[in-house]
Amino acid sequence: MIKPETIQDIFEAARVEEVVGDFISLRKRGVNFIGHCPFHNEKTPSFTVSPAKGIYKCFGCGKGGNAVNFVMEHEHFTYPEALKFIAKKYSIDIEEEEQSPEQLKFINAQESLYHVSAFAQTNFTDNLTKTEEGKAIGLSYFKSRGFSEATIEKFQLGYCIDNFETFTSHALKSGYKKDQLVKSGLSIQKENRIYDRFRARVMFPIQSLTGRVIAFGGRILSAEKSKAKYVNSPETEIYNKSKVLYGLYFSRNAMLQKDNCYLVEGYTDVISFHQCGIENVVASSGTSLTTEQIKLIKRFTPNITILFDGDEAGLKASFRGIDMILEEGMNVKVVLFPDGEDPDSYARAHSLVELEDFIKTNSKDFISFKTNLLIKEAESDPIKKASLIKEIVRSIAVIPDGIFRSVYVRECSSIMNIQEQALMNELNRALRNKYNDNLKRSSQSFSKPSEPAAIPETEEKFDLSNAEGQEREIIRQLIAYANEEIIFEEEDDRKQVIEIPIKISEFVIHDLRNDDITFFNPLYQKVFDTFGNALEKGVILTENDFIQHEDKDMAKLAVDLVSTPYELSTNWEKHKIPVRTELDNLKHLITSTVLSFKSKKIDQMILDNQNELKVLTDDEDKIILVQKHITLKNISKEINRQLSRIITK
Ligand SMILES: [Zn+2]
Repeated sequence: MIKPETIQDIFEAARVEEVVGDFISLRKRGVNFIGHCPFHNEKTPSFTVSPAKGIYKCFGCGKGGNAVNFVMEHEHFTYPEALKFIAKKYSIDIEEEEQSPEQLKFINAQESLYHVSAFAQTNFTDNLTKTEEGKAIGLSYFKSRGFSEATIEKFQLGYCIDNFETFTSHALKSGYKKDQLVKSGLSIQKENRIYDRFRARVMFPIQSLTGRVIAFGGRILSAEKSKAKYVNSPETEIYNKSKVLYGLYFSRNAMLQKDNCYLVEGYTDVISFHQCGIENVVASSGTSLTTEQIKLIKRFTPNITILFDGDEAGLKASFRGIDMILEEGMNVKVVLFPDGEDPDSYARAHSLVELEDFIKTNSKDFISFKTNLLIKEAESDPIKKASLIKEIVRSIAVIPDGIFRSVYVRECSSIMNIQEQALMNELNRALRNKYNDNLKRSSQSFSKPSEPAAIPETEEKFDLSNAEGQEREIIRQLIAYANEEIIFEEEDDRKQVIEIPIKISEFVIHDLRNDDITFFNPLYQKVFDTFGNALEKGVILTENDFIQHEDKDMAKLAVDLVSTPYELSTNWEKHKIPVRTELDNLKHLITSTVLSFKSKKIDQMILDNQNELKVLTDDEDKIILVQKHITLKNISKEINRQLSRIITK
């Protein structure tokens, strides 16, 4: 844990334009800097850095935050990693709080695995380039695959000597412990013997997101049938197979830039693509794709293109996995390579232009691809065709977006030459089943009578979230003006007018809390509560407290709220042109905002009440609700009277 004082020092030292400027080139424009956004593709720069506010904001893709957020977003660092990165830039010593013995033990265990993995990688690479055996067997193999020296170096490829204990004894002599070697999976212990897991294999290190070696894949070169072609590290405290994608460290920037990810099968596919010039590529390496891996890709892009070699059986086996990708709301395309070719061999035999061209002309949307492939088998067989429809619909049903679903239904109906309505009926059935399953699962936790089996469809439901505008505006003013004072005038006992100054945050929080008014949007409620809790301790939070908040969602919101695409030119003031700004009449601004928020809330309560009234049968209950209705209407009238008084003032 980094000490709060140190975090404060880091925030104070960090100049957002310097931190961002290390990654992209910025030009000064007025009081701000602008540049091309690193998070989305743009021709005209809309990425703005405001040194005064200490924030960056892209008006193209909406990304924004403080210097620490930028490093987190750009480098995919965790919060502590980003803090350490900036501390290093400004030569701030990190003072860390003492860790519990358990924490220390875990961190030490992880660190020791990182160390031994890095040691092994260096050793394997040395074997490859400096030993006769490595050169003759390993290096010549990589060269035969067309890998250049630069590629071999970039991917840190290596070779493990063909002897039971060359690596293990070298590691032991270098001070590594038996236990450490076994835990990392580099060595295997059987009874009293300890020996190398990867002997006689060429080595592919697997890197973490930040580029540290966390595991290895080893490929045997001899034709011995008794040995597995590939052997991988077992799972360890630093290597969780289902959460790692091979090549992600090398491809993440290209994935962001190209807004697409190519998914291939093996290490060599990834490496050959890089060498050919296509860098937005990762491999699931041996395991079948997991949800965690899909989410990992989604952090960089929602678009995925799966590259298959021409084997139809393998293709069909992967359909289930692709449904998982669709379920995450991602756009899936597939490319089928010609018979006997795979991404690796194709990339080796063709130029970058040819490879890009091939992918472009052959990439097909997954659902239509699947439909086309299956229809061939079912053509004149009605029973097969019926099960084909079910199969296709199952894929469409997992897509979260309704509009996409209906587009696919139309397309598939034309490919399969069956009526759209027939497909639609089947889709609705699948959706109902899914809905019922979910209902069953959720009703197990609280014993509610089960609802009728239907999808909640077009029935008009009152949208509670439509006070969003008012809620957001209150939070914006709270964050921007928390510490500003407004003056209320009141008469004292002797009928003398006295002025009562009150801070905006106090006014808003007390006023809304008095009326038990809460926010529909949970993030706004969180900001409101954070203000309220601090206020109880006598602290008034400011814009900076939120922009620098550890809670990413609150920080992001604060940045979005305080940044406007247009800054007033300083020339206006210079030429004494009067510009009316919010600060000139804060009291008017804040009171009208609070009132219109209340007015909206009351309207909602009236509507809720009316809806409740509709379904009631008991007369006494009805009377209570009617009375409630009248009270609410009166409050609403009063609020609106006050509101119109303020606005016309
Ligand atoms: Zn952007």
